[in-house]
Amino acid sequence: MVDNVRLRLLRFLNADPDCFDVVFVANATAAIKLIADTFRDLPGGFWYGYHRDAHTSLVGVRELASRHQCFETDREVNEWIKSRVRAEGLGILAYPAQSNMNGRRLPLRWSHELRQAEDTRNEGRIFTLLDAAAILSTSPLDLSDSKQAPDFTVLSLYKIFGFPDLGALVVRKDAGWVFQHRKYFGGGTVDMVLSLKEQWHAKKVDSIHSQLEDGTLPIHSIIALDSAFTVHTELFQSLARVARHTGYLADRLHRGLTRLRHGNGRPLVQLYKDDTSHYRDTCSQGPVVSFTLRNDDDTFVSNNEVEKLASIRNIHIRTGGLCNPGGIASALSLKPWDMRKNFSTGQHKCGSENDIIDGKPTGMIRASLGAMSTTSDVDSFLAFLKEFFLNDNNTTPREEAVPELGSSCELVVESLTVYPIKSCAGWQVPFDTPWLVRPEGLAWDREWCLVHQGTNKALSQKRYPKMALIKPSLDFDQGLLRVRLTDSHNPHAEELTIPLSSDPRPFQSTEKTQPRLADVCGDTFEPRMYASTSLATCLSDFIGVPCQLARFPPMGSAGTSTRHAKAHLKTNNDIERKRPILLSNESPILTINRSSLNRLNEIIKADFGKAASPSVFRANIVLAEPWNTPSGFEQPYAEDRWTRMRIGHETFEFLGGCRRCQMVCIDQGTAVKNEQPFVTLAKTRRFGGKVLFGVHTCLLPRSGASCATIRVGDAVTSFSGDELL
Ligand SMILES: *Cc1c(COP(=O)(O)O)cnc(C)c1O
Repeated sequence: MVDNVRLRLLRFLNADPDCFDVVFVANATAAIKLIADTFRDLPGGFWYGYHRDAHTSLVGVRELASRHQCFETDREVNEWIKSRVRAEGLGILAYPAQSNMNGRRLPLRWSHELRQAEDTRNEGRIFTLLDAAAILSTSPLDLSDSKQAPDFTVLSLYKIFGFPDLGALVVRKDAGWVFQHRKYFGGGTVDMVLSLKEQWHAKKVDSIHSQLEDGTLPIHSIIALDSAFTVHTELFQSLARVARHTGYLADRLHRGLTRLRHGNGRPLVQLYKDDTSHYRDTCSQGPVVSFTLRNDDDTFVSNNEVEKLASIRNIHIRTGGLCNPGGIASALSLKPWDMRKNFSTGQHKCGSENDIIDGKPTGMIRASLGAMSTTSDVDSFLAFLKEFFLNDNNTTPREEAVPELGSSCELVVESLTVYPIKSCAGWQVPFDTPWLVRPEGLAWDREWCLVHQGTNKALSQKRYPKMALIKPSLDFDQGLLRVRLTDSHNPHAEELTIPLSSDPRPFQSTEKTQPRLADVCGDTFEPRMYASTSLATCLSDFIGVPCQLARFPPMGSAGTSTRHAKAHLKTNNDIERKRPILLSNESPILTINRSSLNRLNEIIKADFGKAASPSVFRANIVLAEPWNTPSGFEQPYAEDRWTRMRIGHETFEFLGGCRRCQMVCIDQGTAVKNEQPFVTLAKTRRFGGKVLFGVHTCLLPRSGASCATIRVGDAVTSFSGDELL
């Protein structure tokens, strides 16, 4: 059956089984690596040339080559082929049939031209490696003329069919001899091996695939591939038909994007398509549209922001560097020295949040269309961009009336909430209870966290919404942290109890075990892990992920710097430096303003019917205007201008707006995610690409005062303007 599927794959590519063989591998990268490993074993090493548009997996081959070269343009390749000097030794020219960055299709004729230009009297020879992983998902590849075909073609079958997880290397038999140089053998690729007294082996020679498929084949996946071919044909008939369909859709998307203009006439979309290609011409262009968005003042919108909103709307796009370093650098004019600087200063790396540096995007947005995409997918994506990112009129409607500089505002503390276990439910401080507040935050706030047993990362509700149903409460009479695991399926909630005292006995001894370093939002610290396996089992079973409870080490304890002692609570100094707006969601205290929430809820209720609960914002302090404030005199979003506030005798400083993400969409009572209030926040509260709600706050310690307390119901005066600092 495996051999039948090999033939079927060759037929899919119009490839004659007399001229080609198929090697099954895990993915396209594994196929590339198999070639690279083979060439590395050549006695004289090898030369490697690759095109700028190469996927990261093709670029990596250069590390095994003795000499390598990156072609920056098609013209460079053309000229190099024309002027081809005699190759010294063997080499590979590698390029993608379709750029995975912007869908541009590269000339398939290079294999043939290179072969013709080769001087046959010469010992040397350059093989061609075509990366067909991107092109084949929406377009046929025709290898019917073996003289013109690439020597090696690599593909990812799951990119065509979705399933099975399998890749393939298609080898032109004329080029197969090179694999005899591969040194490694394994079960499956060898006929006889001697190990004792004499070390000798005889490698398989009967076919190319039997020389290269080490170990057990993924038999079930290969057999599933047979069904994948059948189903794909039933659904779509042929890749040629898929190409026409997706070409039409991509053209529609592309034209729709170019039409999007802000009220002031500036375009919303910056496209990264090659000028010479056309979406309706499948030889020059695949159905991939790459772009970035600009605000009406020409500044770039953060791609991350677009992705977050898209995911709420069930739209799947890819953002960032797209695994195409050369293509991205050339399209975005990123200079290597800038990129290295950004990397070494920690500002940017693959997958990082901070994607606009010095006003320039470090990546792009890629919308790919496939066989199953529809016209309405395209239209709803365009509508989505319009809804969130287009500013139709010349004014900025989201600006609220802001209080005058230097004015003050009278409020009260409506509620105080602490989150004893980071990312779990909050616990409300009882009315009339003076609560200790320190520069690092409210007492008992984020004293514990849940740590993943495998990765040692602190768990977050963003990933594990069910953490909202872990409800801690502080029982000072018994000296216990009580944790209820509330689940609608399980009304008799379990209760776990943990001593509040810092008695070391419940913790794992650090003498016998290696100290464990945990990671909280990118900062490392050494937590004290609870030893109890039943505690771990309970929590793990509840969230469905192996985890353990950990307690932050006490402040200033031996061996922990202040920074590591409570990594989740950045020290005052740390925050000072990052004013005015923190990038991190973490700060000593988070304050929200009830009037702002009311204003937000007016809009949400109008669109959506159901108001957002204050609990989703996970604030520590909720401030409200006095009950007798006449209607119409509330000051929503006055906190945008506040610099300080006084609660009783204590002074607090505001450090900037709190950047929000989809986590505010998790209903804290049910752990169910929906699209509000993030969608409305994104429409009304986006500033410089950041969605802000609530303000980071910290206590300014009074000299001489030993401990500061605040309580629910306390009067608050907030101040705006610098002169009061
Ligand atoms: C996806 C892709 C790859 C990598 O494929 P894997 O199957 O993930 O190894 C390589 N090149 C291109 C052009 C791709 O699109």
